[in-house]
Amino acid sequence: MQKDLSLLQPNYSRSEKLFERAQTAIPGGVNSPVRAFRGVGGTPVFIRSGQGPYLTDVDGHRFIDYIGSWGPMILGHAHPEVIEALQKAMERGTSFGAPTELEVEVAETICSIMPSVEKIRMVSSGTEATMSAIRVARGYTGRTKVVKFIGCYHGHGDALLVKAGSGVATLGLPDSPGVPPETAQHTISVPFNNLDALRQVFETYPADVACVIIEPVVGNMGCVPPASGYLEGIRDLTSQYGAVLIFDEVMTGFRLAPGGAQEKYGIKPDMTTLGKIMGGGLPAAAYGGRKEIMDCVAPVGPVYQAGTLSGNPLAMTAGLTTLKLLRRAGVYEGLERQSKKVAEGIQQAAQKNGFKTVLNRVGSMFTVFFTETPVTDWETAKTSDTGLFARFFHAMLAEGVYLPPSQFEAAFLGTAHSDEVIDATIAAAERAFKKIKN
Ligand SMILES: *Cc1c(COP(=O)(O)O)cnc(C)c1O
Repeated sequence: MQKDLSLLQPNYSRSEKLFERAQTAIPGGVNSPVRAFRGVGGTPVFIRSGQGPYLTDVDGHRFIDYIGSWGPMILGHAHPEVIEALQKAMERGTSFGAPTELEVEVAETICSIMPSVEKIRMVSSGTEATMSAIRVARGYTGRTKVVKFIGCYHGHGDALLVKAGSGVATLGLPDSPGVPPETAQHTISVPFNNLDALRQVFETYPADVACVIIEPVVGNMGCVPPASGYLEGIRDLTSQYGAVLIFDEVMTGFRLAPGGAQEKYGIKPDMTTLGKIMGGGLPAAAYGGRKEIMDCVAPVGPVYQAGTLSGNPLAMTAGLTTLKLLRRAGVYEGLERQSKKVAEGIQQAAQKNGFKTVLNRVGSMFTVFFTETPVTDWETAKTSDTGLFARFFHAMLAEGVYLPPSQFEAAFLGTAHSDEVIDATIAAAERAFKKIKN
């Protein structure tokens, strides 16, 4: 049963009841903090099902989804070909703890899509991918320091949970208790889009930096693109000082181009971390890179890394099917066109109603920041009026549009966002801005 949200006040009573129950059994009622709506207030909606670009909650409201499970659902929810492949795979068994042909196929597919990835190891989450990549980079170089960028998020591994953007930032925790200072003491954070800051780190520690890890297009402080020449500059500095350059493409991989941000910007990192889309909605992630570096990993080399469910056949099936469907002609052109249309539509609706906003967009990821300051790093992202964002978020939710519940998370769209869906979104944004103006 779907309700026409323009006529009805939404009633979230089932979500509210579930949230109450959830909070007694699960910390904060959620299994990942941003889902709790702390950044915008109110009760998170509990989802019953998804179909194409839509989510349906337990109270029967239908939403146009701009989260896509935080990235993976680029083909839309319950894509028939992915579901069919999964059903077939399931009948053959769900986990073997032994090598399968599927893993080889996924590895070969990714290596062919991303030329910088010569060898790849599957893991089960983006967090695991970045933790492992850093261990390998340290093992390979024999160095200890890790450089990251303020506002970039690389999962919740101890060494990387420093100045880590969205989730952490939304909760106002600068660093997490439970991470001993000694564990994070080798992590150096520098501002994004500031090459001089990175150069200074290398001048101070010319022989100590094992790796530089970066979201080449940031999604985790809202969408923040690299300035022209910035990624090239990082590539040059890391090469000059013998540090491993890791592109964390957990979010951008297979989204900004088949070969991710590295293809879009023409930069070849030494290592790459992947996740989200490569699992097609099931838990799969990976890290890969130059042969010489990846051959440090056990059992070829001495750097230990393992996983009971790594390369899980269901996850590999969903991922492989998703990657195949993404390679059809015109997919990325379509994503670019629809994304431009919806992002600019929302931006225009804001300005028409007198709101000062900054739109950042790269391909199918975008953020409308409630600020007048161009957003190029974490400092400028923070100039956003998060209270105003929260009102916009709730007005959009009431209009049937599900945006990320934080100013500092990028919105995503996918191949199921048709013209009709985009037009409905823009019309919803116009009503939402009108409503919050009064
Ligand atoms: C989501 C994300 C991660 C963490 O992945 P999980 O699967 O949530 O552990 C790491 N890096 C980036 C850039 C991400 O967007």
